[in-house]
Amino acid sequence: MRFKVLLIEDNESSVRVLKRVIGKANLDVVLANTLAQAKIIFETTSPELYLCAVVGYSLPDAPHGQAINFTINAFIPTIVITSEVEEDIRENILAKSIVDYIPKQNAQMFEYLNRLLIRLEKNKQIGVLVVDKSRHNRGILSSLLGRHNFITFDTSSAAQALDLLQRHPLIKLMLVEEDLADTKGLELVSEARKLYDKDQLSIIGLSTNTHSSLLAQFIKSGANDFLRKPYCHEEFFCRIVQNVEHIEQIEAIRRAANSDYLTGLPNRRHFFNKVNHTIHRGQAPMSLALIDLDNFKLINDSFGHDYGDVVLKEVSKMIVRHFSSFHYSRFGGEEFCIFMAQTEQSEAIELLNTFRQEVSQKVIKSKGISHSCTLSIGVTSRASKKIESMLSIADEHLYNAKAQGRNRVIGDPA
Ligand code: GH3
Ligand code: MG
Ligand code: MG
Repeated sequence: MRFKVLLIEDNESSVRVLKRVIGKANLDVVLANTLAQAKIIFETTSPELYLCAVVGYSLPDAPHGQAINFTINAFIPTIVITSEVEEDIRENILAKSIVDYIPKQNAQMFEYLNRLLIRLEKNKQIGVLVVDKSRHNRGILSSLLGRHNFITFDTSSAAQALDLLQRHPLIKLMLVEEDLADTKGLELVSEARKLYDKDQLSIIGLSTNTHSSLLAQFIKSGANDFLRKPYCHEEFFCRIVQNVEHIEQIEAIRRAANSDYLTGLPNRRHFFNKVNHTIHRGQAPMSLALIDLDNFKLINDSFGHDYGDVVLKEVSKMIVRHFSSFHYSRFGGEEFCIFMAQTEQSEAIELLNTFRQEVSQKVIKSKGISHSCTLSIGVTSRASKKIESMLSIADEHLYNAKAQGRNRVIGDPA
């Protein structure tokens, strides 16, 4: 789904640039030149469709920031754009529950706004857990975080915090106050670290305590960062974003290291790690299949390497659809591997045959070329604690499938 951004601004040249920045962030612009127009537009669209509003401070029918109040009251995260520089106006803007405030004359503004919009969209998928004994403080923090589109969770106790972390994998950040209902914040930090390392879950310690030793203790117990109260909202969000981005960067690196560049499927190394983990628990039945595209060299030679790539990507998509409950991988070149836990030979052969037939019937189109391809599959269900031995049996069966004329599935002899 593409989100919308409600842009309320009357200055033509600003509108032109802002439209470009919002479009660059892959968002749709809904433009209102006045507050009255914004109200009409808003009545006819559902508020959930809006990622945020980008609002000019001074408009023909709202010269003193009234449009900001309107979008805030409508629960749309609000970013204010202004050319006003007077200190009292700036303070007036910052006193409202806005996401951020961007001065027009700042040359970096558009780059900054672009990053902010992308961030607001990503935040919709990120959970933040607030752990604080005081209901009042939890409310303040949750509402600050909600303003930036984060999904918020909160609790007063460490026990419940650990439970929430385990039930909601989308929680990437936990804010922990020094005093909790059942124990100390430091205790929660070290317990949480037994479950998640610093690259999976960011933890920020919060305290009013002025002793610098508490800061060190939070970090030593495993917190990524520390925030001393009172803090200003800007500082708060800078820390939040920095810590969330750290987790995202590690996730991106991990994803890249574990997946095949062309098809996005898990690569061989990742597949081995995952499957070895399952196989060691040794719960038969299990089946392992090796899939190889037939005469793929000929496809490359006849239609070009780019078309060959399209075929590999198309077959990969079908693998994801057909084998979503199993482990699969692009093993190399035009070879794929599927590990099916809890699956007997007869069931595996049936699934693989359905897949093989669907692939052979699929016409793969790209740049004027229409062609289809077939595959040969070897599958074994001779359970072993070593994936290598299952692979070598499946490979023998695959060899036989090729020798017997391709486009077929061969399993273990009865
Ligand atoms: P067989 O039916 O016996 O498997 O014949 P084949 O032509 O599929 O097997 P062969 O091993 O001779 O050729 C595999 C081809 O796969 C050769 C190689 O260029 C091609 N290939 C490997 N990786 C890629 C890739 O990433 N993209 C493209 N387009 N081709 C690739
Ligand atoms: Mg091959
Ligand atoms: Mg081949």
